[in-house]
Amino acid sequence: MSQKLENCWMVLPGHKVGYGDLVIEGDSIVDLRLSPSPQDGASPRLVMPGLINCHGHTAMTLVRGLGSGLPLQRWLEEAIFPVEAKMTPEDVYAGDVWGLMEMLAGGTTCVADMYDFPWEMEKALCAAGMKGRVCRVGLNFIPGRLEECIEFTKSFNVSRLRSNVLADLCIHSEYLTDEAFCRGLAEANKELKRPLHFHV
Ligand SMILES: [Zn+2]
Repeated sequence: MSQKLENCWMVLPGHKVGYGDLVIEGDSIVDLRLSPSPQDGASPRLVMPGLINCHGHTAMTLVRGLGSGLPLQRWLEEAIFPVEAKMTPEDVYAGDVWGLMEMLAGGTTCVADMYDFPWEMEKALCAAGMKGRVCRVGLNFIPGRLEECIEFTKSFNVSRLRSNVLADLCIHSEYLTDEAFCRGLAEANKELKRPLHFHV
């Protein structure tokens, strides 16, 4: 399917801004005609590459505003964790779709996500036609989670035919992931060689 965007401003390679017409076929730009200056009736919109969200908990759209104003640890333990413990994969998928629609509306087309049920995020990303990275969240208080994180990352990336969603390794944070977990992940990553997603 071909689509022509006429009379619009656009971001060009080299961080330049130009003006003209653009023709898209499928997922490729097939023609670009620049004009020296805007024509009458010029679109006020800007055509640009998609923005990248480098860190998200997309399904938390479902708990937006919950426990607002609490300090971090109380917010997590009193407001968020009890609700998240009851979330089903279907809940997370719904929150992911909601969050991705908001991102698309703002121009974001790629996101690195850190949340439970990452395979639901993969489904939502594919349905939205977006790119992304998912991970199994690295939390040391869940028995067997280290091995699960390593296996998830390894099997996810070798079994996916689509290249628009890949899995990275994850260390949640200093307060929810201990040294043994981090060392175990680092050791496994000598072979996996994946990017690491973590909070600082
Ligand atoms: Zn975060």
